[in-house]
Amino acid sequence: MKRSRRLETTLIHGGEIRPRVGGAITLPVFQSSTFEFSGEDNYHDVRYVRLSNTPNHVVLHRKLALLEAAEAAIVAGSGMAAISSTLLTLLSQGDHLLAHRCLYGGSHSFITKDLPALGIECTFLDADEPGAWAAALRPTTRAFYVETMTNPLLEVVDLPGVVAFCRAHGLTSVIDNTCATPVNYRPIEHGFDLVVHSATKYLNGHSDIVAGAIVGSATRIAAIKRKLDHLGGALDPHSCFLLHRGLKTLALRVKQQCDTALHVARFLEQHRSVACVHYPGLESHPRHARAKQWFAGAGGLLSFELGGGIVAADRFLRSAEIPANAPSLGGAETLMTRPMLTSHAGLSAGDRKAQGIADDLVRISVGLEAKEDIIDDFDQALGAIQ
Ligand code: PLP
Repeated sequence: MKRSRRLETTLIHGGEIRPRVGGAITLPVFQSSTFEFSGEDNYHDVRYVRLSNTPNHVVLHRKLALLEAAEAAIVAGSGMAAISSTLLTLLSQGDHLLAHRCLYGGSHSFITKDLPALGIECTFLDADEPGAWAAALRPTTRAFYVETMTNPLLEVVDLPGVVAFCRAHGLTSVIDNTCATPVNYRPIEHGFDLVVHSATKYLNGHSDIVAGAIVGSATRIAAIKRKLDHLGGALDPHSCFLLHRGLKTLALRVKQQCDTALHVARFLEQHRSVACVHYPGLESHPRHARAKQWFAGAGGLLSFELGGGIVAADRFLRSAEIPANAPSLGGAETLMTRPMLTSHAGLSAGDRKAQGIADDLVRISVGLEAKEDIIDDFDQALGAIQ
């Protein structure tokens, strides 16, 4: 398919098998673990689900590469499978990683708990303070890892600075684009080398699978695929089918979620019971100008703190009726959680404090309900905490 088509069209038609399989309008699930040998001369090309090469995988790879304006992509069994196989491909014993100090809890725990056992060290730094980065460099530094909008504080760090620094020092730049999605930001177009996703979230969008994706140059993706093949982190064909179906509505969903999140953030910001709101779409966000310039939308995720500590936060969570109190994000249902108890529970209290994650921080992933109903519901829930 022509690359010049718009993202909405690519979501539907990009990378699809033509002519259609049996004339079916949607790609069927190839629920077969193995396929007839057809002369492949390389182990990694043998047609077998763990080697991520069924028709359901191949279509997703082509579509995701087109969406992120990259040469290649590969799906994985979860966001963490995508992140761990990427880092394990880039880094080996004795190597060193730079990473922004505020990351999704699972990524932070993998970097601090699993990589050191393999002889891989990481320096966490403020990816918004480029002046301090050179001092953290070592001859063994290989990569720099950041998130487009950080989970759960929605920071927007110096992304062009990270790209320029990596180019100047021969590092691989890796960005987790889960919260932004290619609808709002396409990191490859801005010079990043590798993009990882928890496709569990917006890419699938229905809270019914776990999946991951990695996007980048053909050479880098081939190397990561070999690692994923050995680690056994492939996505199963039925989940591929669901991810493929979910992707078709990505643009519609994300645009509505950005609009709802902005309205909810504005409502919370003016409420007397709310101490602060973290959402880059708000004019009051310290990096609003940046977000406005770089992103098509500020995303569907926001977080806020109530003046009344944990007691008030828990009362709010119990009183809100529309959202479920659950971790994860990016689905059709609005979800709310205290990251201290879920997404960032694996971090020590000290690490959470260093990241700026307060114990009473509430994170909201807005769904597809009417924004007026969500705001009315939050209004009554905030009333209930007083
Ligand atoms: N990256 C981000 C930003 C996340 O929020 C998550 C999960 O919450 C992950 C990665 C990990 O994804 P998964 O749960 O699909 O392994």
